[in-house]
This record gives sequence, C-alpha cells and structure tokens, in this order.
Amino acid sequence: MATCNTSKCNKPYSKSRYTAFGIITLIAFVLPFLRIGGNHLFLFSFDKKQLHLLFTTFDMQELYLMPFLLILLFLGIFFMTTLGGRIWCGWVCPQTIFRVIYRDLIETKLLGIRKNIKNKQTDSQNGIKKVIAVCIWSILAFLAASNFTWYFIPPEDFFNYIQNPLDHTVLIGILAIITGFLIYDVILLKEEFCVYVCPYARVQSVMFDNDTIQTIYNEERGGLIYDEHNQLINTKPTGENDECTGCEACVKICPTHIDIRKGMQLECINCLECADACTTVMEKLGKESLITWTSPNAIESKGKTQFMRFRTIAYGIALSIALVALFLMGSTKEHMLLNINKTTQLYKIKDKGEEIQNAYTFLFQNTDHKDHKYYFEVDNKDITIVKPSAPFKLKSGSKMKKVVILKTNKNLSTHAKDDTLLNIKITAYALDDKEKIIVFRNTTFIYPSPSSVKKYLNK
Ligand code: SF4
Ligand code: SF4
Repeated sequence: MATCNTSKCNKPYSKSRYTAFGIITLIAFVLPFLRIGGNHLFLFSFDKKQLHLLFTTFDMQELYLMPFLLILLFLGIFFMTTLGGRIWCGWVCPQTIFRVIYRDLIETKLLGIRKNIKNKQTDSQNGIKKVIAVCIWSILAFLAASNFTWYFIPPEDFFNYIQNPLDHTVLIGILAIITGFLIYDVILLKEEFCVYVCPYARVQSVMFDNDTIQTIYNEERGGLIYDEHNQLINTKPTGENDECTGCEACVKICPTHIDIRKGMQLECINCLECADACTTVMEKLGKESLITWTSPNAIESKGKTQFMRFRTIAYGIALSIALVALFLMGSTKEHMLLNINKTTQLYKIKDKGEEIQNAYTFLFQNTDHKDHKYYFEVDNKDITIVKPSAPFKLKSGSKMKKVVILKTNKNLSTHAKDDTLLNIKITAYALDDKEKIIVFRNTTFIYPSPSSVKKYLNK
C-alpha cells in the first residue's frame, strides 16, 4: 500500500495555479504599456496599420513576419500540448481565470452565495448578493475588455479616445460587445464554453501521446468505478485493496461536472481541483492522492514522465528554428520603404539629342517613429538627378509619391540598333540618420538607340 510522502502529497496545485493566474494577469496588464522610443513590445495596431514586435515597428507592407508568427503560434500550441496536455486550459486560459475570479472569489469567498468552494455542482443563490456579484464582474469584464483592446489600440491612444466617445464610436462599440460577451460567458455560459465552444478542446486530444501529462485517476490503486463501456459499476470500489473511499470529493469539486475516475475526458480542463480534493481525503488516511498530474506511461511503469521524447524534441527544434528565423527577419527591418516604378514613357530626348531623361515614380514611406528629411543618390556618375532638386521632409508613418527625373548628357549607348538598358542602383536615406535609415534599390536607365535619336532630330 502506498503511503503519503507529506512533502509531496500535501502540496496543493491550487496555490501554484493562483500564483500563475496572478503573474499572467500582471503580464497581460503591464505588457501593452512597455515601449521604447514609441515602439511597443507587442502591438497589432489596426488604426495605424502597424505591427510592433520586440520594440520594433513594422508597417503592414512589411508583414513578411506574419507567417513566422503564425508558424510560431501553431508550433507553440503543438509543443505545449504534447508536453503538458491541457496545461493552457487549467493554468493560463483567461476563461479559467475569469471563472475562478467570479465563482470562487466573488460568489464564494466575497459574497458567500455559494456555500462551499469544494462543491461546484450547485448554482449560486439568487438575490441582492447575486446582483452585486454581477455588478462587480461587469466592472472587471470592462477592465478585461479594455486590456484586450490595448493589444490593438495602444493605451496612450485608448485613454485619449475614450474621453471623446462620440468621436470613437467603433471603439466604444467593440468595448461594449467584448464586455457584454464576457458577462454572458462567465455568468451564464460558464464551463460550457470549454466543453462545447472552444475549438482547442476538440483538437488537442490528437496531440496527446502516452507520455503527455494529464489529470489521471490511478485505477490500479483506487479500484474500478466504471466498466469498459463507461457504465458505473459502483460509486465505491469493492476490491479488498481498493483505496478509493467513494467520497466523491473529486466529483463534487469538478467545474465541468465530470468524474475523472471514468478516465480522460474531453471536458477535463486540467484544473487539478479533483487532485487537490483527493489529496485532502487521502492525506487523512496517510496516503498519496489517487488523482495526480502525470502521464499514463508514468503510472504504468511507476516511474517518471518522459518529457524528452521524439515528438517534443522535434517540436522544440522546429520552434527554435522558427524563433531564430523571426529574430533574423526582424533584425533586417528597413526604417524606410521605397518602391520604384518607371513611367510608361521610356525616355525623353532633349537639347538636340544632347540630353536624355528618364522619369520614375518613387513611393517613399517613413516607417520610423520620428520625422526625417530624405534624399537619394544614383551610383552612376554620368547620371544626375533633375527632380526632386532638394531633400524633402516626411512625417513619421507617412507616405509620399515623388516624380523623379534622372538625366545624362553623355552618350551612354552601347548598341548600334537597340536602346541601351543601364542597371543603376538608387541609394535613398534620411539625411539625419544615414547609418540606420538607408535603403538600396535597383532599377534601369534607358538610353535610346542612335537611330531613335536620329529620328527625333529629323522630326
Ligand atoms: S476532472 Fe474536473 S476537476 Fe479534475 S482536472 Fe478535470 S476539470 Fe478539473
Ligand atoms: S476524492 Fe479520491 S477517494 Fe474520494 S472518490 Fe475521489 S478518488 Fe476516491
């Protein structure tokens, strides 16, 4: 018979979970405020059409980073689920945190409209205290909704916007919808969101293997409660050495209303409340909990969970590669954008064939957080800039189209019959920060064939 190793079995998971909830909530609220030089740690700004990542701003035109972010997201989910099962649901998911705040903190601890935190099968009593609970949650739901929008509208803009609600009705509408949903979800939908709505619950089981950690009832020690067809045999096992007392503390405490002694179920959100409940019961008998956070293989072998295995190593390597690629792509960010298009007219012959001009449209964009003055150079000393004749200013985040005319007074023709295509390199830069804000673009300068020049002169 297993005996209780008190240093291990008396340690409730709930304390670690509440600490995790506190840290996650703190991070969620602080992260949108973290910025250096106007660039946020993370922001997906809809109104400015920018992505801020690791204190660098990327324009929507630079969203080559997006596939890497999505790959990272999916690989991260696969890696986390294969390794820790539904660790997200029980330890990180806002839905679980909100339900703990509303059900266990507000309704049970604060207002006492739920009798016992250990029994989640009965609903809270209606009455004036229920109204107070709904009001408190509504305020918190508005805070959570605001916090969510800060990842899309930075807090410095958000607080300005909500002071003028009539000018920002879209934001107010979004806030009202999210707040309304959170009130409905947490008070009425409850854990049914996890069971019936959340898509992650449906897909996560295919990522499990026998080394994935889950909330598991030790049937070998506890005894059989359900048969192979999941039909209840007895609420208390009848075997001589069966340790389960049939107290059902694990069933009463379960927020998704399941009996973990039936085995792994889709509804289990890995909150481990049943494990803590069983720990309390078994501790009195000097035994270890029958429900633990472990893997099927660890239970079978009575050993440790195998975290380093082919799937987790493969996901870990893929995740590291995607992270390095994202970092490398992010570090090659250009602080200005430049698109060059040649106009439809190939060239212009002027001064009796002495001067050849080519026209282009340059689209400049200042993606830096400061205003700058820009100009550019051509790498061919025989070609000079006619237009624009001087540097020009561009505000932070703004774009400007410039008609650019380049000319040459030298005969650059190398073909007797055809036009000559000269490859040229444009170096565009900010005058005040040429070290950092500089881009290079290749384009062509077309020099007419001698016959074309002759034809023009004979006109
Ligand atoms: S069975 Fe219920 S109480 Fe136990 S971890 Fe799953 S959801 Fe939580
Ligand atoms: S809490 Fe433990 S002892 Fe009580 S019914 Fe559940 S598994 Fe059995």
